[in-house]
Amino acid sequence: MSACRSRILMLVVAAPLLLGAVPRPCRAQQAGVPSPDPALLARANRLLSQVPVIDGHNDLPSELLDRFGGDPLAAHLDRGQPALETDLPRLKAGHVGAQFWSAYVENDSIPAGASLRVALRQIDMVHRMVDAYPAALAPARTAADIERIEAEGRTASLIGVEGGHAIEGSLSALRMLYDLGVRYMTLTHNTTLPWADAALDYPRRHGLTPFGVDVIHEMNRLGMFADLSHVSAEVMRDVLRATRAPVIFSHSSARALVDHPRNVPDDVLRLMPANGGVVMVNFCPCFTGKGAELWDARVDSALQAAKAGAASPEQAQAAFRAWMRTHPRPIATVSDIADHIDHVVKLAGIDHVGVGGDYDGTGGDLPVGMPDVSSYPVLFAELLRRGYTDEQLKKIAGLNLLRAMRQMEAVAAQLQKTERPLLTDLAPKASAQ
Ligand SMILES: [Zn+2]
Repeated sequence: MSACRSRILMLVVAAPLLLGAVPRPCRAQQAGVPSPDPALLARANRLLSQVPVIDGHNDLPSELLDRFGGDPLAAHLDRGQPALETDLPRLKAGHVGAQFWSAYVENDSIPAGASLRVALRQIDMVHRMVDAYPAALAPARTAADIERIEAEGRTASLIGVEGGHAIEGSLSALRMLYDLGVRYMTLTHNTTLPWADAALDYPRRHGLTPFGVDVIHEMNRLGMFADLSHVSAEVMRDVLRATRAPVIFSHSSARALVDHPRNVPDDVLRLMPANGGVVMVNFCPCFTGKGAELWDARVDSALQAAKAGAASPEQAQAAFRAWMRTHPRPIATVSDIADHIDHVVKLAGIDHVGVGGDYDGTGGDLPVGMPDVSSYPVLFAELLRRGYTDEQLKKIAGLNLLRAMRQMEAVAAQLQKTERPLLTDLAPKASAQ
């Protein structure tokens, strides 16, 4: 299952007979978008060839595991793979100089006691994918690696673990993930953990527990970003109090524009300058489309009503399809995504915004006019149209993330002189849900 679907899409997908009821954006919808001004698009392409995009979140590894048997060569990423939103020619066309590949750890792995195993499988997938295409991809662990690999014309490949359940309550596991190249960990996915609440689950801890604070402190000491996408707003605030290093939101948009729990509230955006971190705006219409939060709420009851009122799964599917025809999933355009960037710039400042497209992670829920990883120049052309300067756009494209990563690395180097590895661990019983 894709990693970043909204809660409701996950719920729909969890009902296999209704899976087909979630429509993908149709070609006509994509075709109906006005093309960007050719002069602005050319300027955006020039700008991004100087300072390439560093994207915070892409779920290609999960897609390779789920749909191509985990064989990166079977996906023919070098030739172009239309069944995916990411392949090598389109990474090149999109000027993606660095990508945090998501090592997504399913929430189902928690009751199965298999989260660390799943995380290792995903990390291994990233390693094998990068090894399979050395002409286009190269492993990166530092900001300096990113700049060197970008200069070689390849895509620097970093790893972000999506879901703090991956460490199974063990700081030893966290340290070993760092050694495997993990440079951010999203503290939760959609399930509340014994030490941190998820945005889309019930708040059981009302923030970070003392062990959660230890996780943050150990990430600071190691030199791994704490990623606050997917956590509750209370956890966001607690982490910003506890951390000694910049944080990131690897794929989150602005809650003031779409009141979805996955988006970042204004008071948290205002805390970003003091922290030095970066909010990497998510493109998914499920978080950026006008009315997405209402649709999310309504589709839940529509699905339940369809199931309750039907004599058979087929009838339920027909009823749900009928509802979907009259209540289409909200769309987002390039302009909607630029609105979220504008808002983050307004509240957090131009130094604290980036992009986290969430490609191959939303079950095909894609912005109109930006269907794949070749689409970044279209967004930057729109930002140029809105009056952003080249220097501002270089920050959004990648310089902000590079600055935050250097700062994070410097904090780690300093802390390693004065702090020893933390030895606190949650007992296995407490780390299970
Ligand atoms: Zn996600």
